[in-house]
Amino acid sequence: MRVGIGNDVHRLVTGRDLVLGGVKIPYDKGLLGHSDADVLVHALCDALLGAAGLGDIGQHFPDNDPEFKDIYSIRLLERTWSMLRARGFSIVNIDSTIFAEKPKLTPYKEAMREKIAATLNLFPESVNIKATTTEGLGMIGEGEGIGAMCIVLLADQ
Ligand code: MG
Repeated sequence: MRVGIGNDVHRLVTGRDLVLGGVKIPYDKGLLGHSDADVLVHALCDALLGAAGLGDIGQHFPDNDPEFKDIYSIRLLERTWSMLRARGFSIVNIDSTIFAEKPKLTPYKEAMREKIAATLNLFPESVNIKATTTEGLGMIGEGEGIGAMCIVLLADQ
């Protein structure tokens, strides 16, 4: 068994789509980044890479590479997963938390879970997504950004 963690934060700005867990969420702001800035999927990629001892997302998908400009981050997750699969890893389970003051994410958690599970060929029960606010405190609480953290357990098959 091998465990990995991932964390990410992106700034909320007007004029961008909000994509979390591969799901487009109706909101008047979106996350700023080179890709679609999907913090949950980025934290998940980092957790997977970390568990496999393969470094981090920035090293594999640099944010100055035109190939990844505005990329749907689920594509990065697919590529991350294929690297791990090629090394004989399987995923036991994923747990994650999104930190966002707004919008309310509860109505979208199931769709995110299903999208991530389908991408990784897992049962939805192996993927858990939680959402919380920071009670108005700090950068996230003031609505300047959204953060996510993720932990995964891999098995060497
Ligand atoms: Mg990121």
